[in-house]
Amino acid sequence: MQHTQREDIRNIAIIAHVDHGKTTLVDGLLKQSKVFAAHQQVGNLIMDSNDLEREKGITILAKNIAVMYGGVKINIIDTPGHADFSGEVERVLTMADGCLLLVDAVDGPMPQTTFVLRKALSFGLKPIVVINKLDRANARPADVLRMTQDLFLDLATHEDQLDFPVLYAVAKQGIAVTDPSLYIAPQAGAENHQGDAGGLAPLFEAIVKHVPPPMVDLESPLQVLITSLGYDNYQGKIAVGRVMRGTLRAGEQVAVLGREGTVVRTRVTGVFTFQGLDRVQVESVAAGDITALIGLPDLTIGDTVASVDQPEALPAIAIEEPTVRMSFGVNTSPYAGRDGQWVTSRHLRERLYREIERDIALRVSDSTSADVFQVSGRGELHLAILIETMRREGYEFQVSRPEVITRTVDGKVHEPVEHLVIDTREEYIGYCTESLSRRLGQMVNMHNDGSGNVRLEFAIPTRGLIGFRSAFLTATRGNGTLSSLLLGYEPWYGAMEADRNGVLVASEDGVSLSFGLTKAQERGNLFIEPGVPVYEGMIVGLNARDADIAVNVCREKQQTNMRQSTADIAIKLVTPTKMSLEQALDFIGTDELVEVTPNTFRLRKRILNNDERVKQSRRASQAQMQAVEA
Ligand code: GDP
Repeated sequence: MQHTQREDIRNIAIIAHVDHGKTTLVDGLLKQSKVFAAHQQVGNLIMDSNDLEREKGITILAKNIAVMYGGVKINIIDTPGHADFSGEVERVLTMADGCLLLVDAVDGPMPQTTFVLRKALSFGLKPIVVINKLDRANARPADVLRMTQDLFLDLATHEDQLDFPVLYAVAKQGIAVTDPSLYIAPQAGAENHQGDAGGLAPLFEAIVKHVPPPMVDLESPLQVLITSLGYDNYQGKIAVGRVMRGTLRAGEQVAVLGREGTVVRTRVTGVFTFQGLDRVQVESVAAGDITALIGLPDLTIGDTVASVDQPEALPAIAIEEPTVRMSFGVNTSPYAGRDGQWVTSRHLRERLYREIERDIALRVSDSTSADVFQVSGRGELHLAILIETMRREGYEFQVSRPEVITRTVDGKVHEPVEHLVIDTREEYIGYCTESLSRRLGQMVNMHNDGSGNVRLEFAIPTRGLIGFRSAFLTATRGNGTLSSLLLGYEPWYGAMEADRNGVLVASEDGVSLSFGLTKAQERGNLFIEPGVPVYEGMIVGLNARDADIAVNVCREKQQTNMRQSTADIAIKLVTPTKMSLEQALDFIGTDELVEVTPNTFRLRKRILNNDERVKQSRRASQAQMQAVEA
């Protein structure tokens, strides 16, 4: 075996908390590496193409781009920012030799990045730290550096990872310097003065100098580890991965080695490398570089594409087990098919099974009903994002409440437990401790920095975290962040207080009217306003009491000859409570569903007919009583 050091390539994964300037920095690197031919539009904010990421404040899809610097090609690998996507994090990190941690010069490192950084360091990647937004009025680069050093002390797996190079940047101006004192703010009006301060050259230099060039064996038989999949309307399935050994050639016969030991011979029709934002078609890609390839329809993530003569699989990528599960079913509400484009069981099934090819942390299985599928993932957010993505694509379906996946260990039920880290202001400590103790969380650490910022750490069953994220964001009005990591499985923590009352259920089909709603709001809190189409069995509010009650929100005022009394006119409708999708998923009980369509979502009872539902629940409670008596 002959190992070659590929001086012409560097592979670096970029790790950043949302809003710390990753997109802006990558944008600057692209512009300054002059990969943009004259015909290309240099749009801003290049890496973040996914709307949803912006909305949820996280990066979901890993993407590849490449920039050139002095004859060296730098492949930049984006990493997801959230632990719910841990499967994806591990996969994309297998493509890199170094990692760039980008931190804000005011905020410092954030808990969400800790997870990805820990993984990157455990993979032995060589780190570079960039402290960005040096131009911010309250930038405190020295403090932030100290915080970052502390973090590395915690996470480093090799001593030399502690000796990381540090750069200071103003990504917005396309500037990086090796010492904060070297930064000179541009003149007012001058938008971008890359030229005079050397632009991002110090960062390019640091990457080329500190990220080890791939050490590869070009002569041995081919091995490519497939780490992500994409689709293109013209080219079909596109697989991305690093060529680990040998050379991949367009048109050649290869063996696809599956995770379960399967071997399929097939032909690679096209081979690409990354250049700027594009994939460019090439004849061959040699070990050390990242490639995209087409023509292998049956490929899945984690497969090895290998030489036909000597097919040897690369070690399979470890994937964390799903912790949360829910059902996705065909929409059975009376409004089914009103706004969805893809509504049948076949559409739903195809779409879900397609997702598992891209996302190996996700599991999909058929159920006893042909119209319902079980979908399991790494946390509620993971599944909520899938729901959101599908509905934007035009799918219509109904989902159940997420539930944790338990295991039986030595005859005892165990459940997933997470380490939750919350950064917020001290005025929200009360809210957090109270709400989390109801959710069976146990505080393990609390740190106050003396200026009102607190970090709270809890051990909490995954079950207790369901719905907490959105409740927390609402309660703190965005003044806080939280992240959680799976600690492992522990014996069942015990019953969780059910803190929900019964619901107000629409008793008939129609359109909600002020009069009916006014009557209904005497019973509890409403979720809808007048003019909303409702159906029998749809949940329209929260009852002030325990039991569910049927209300007729479509009721019209009786026409009488009597003049309206002033009291009648004075009754005002209270503004209805609006839930986010995640809140809705947490809100519903096991006998309820969320109906999701491209334009809206509705809460409903599983059994829509009121009489039937009442009979069912009577039967259920009788059975329970008999069981108790027996
Ligand atoms: P991402 O979420 O990590 O991709 O962050 P973005 O690149 O979208 O940047 C988030 C925000 O920070 C945007 O409003 C940027 O304009 C701003 N930003 C990025 N770099 C800098 C910088 O160097 N200085 C300042 N003051 N703002 C910056």
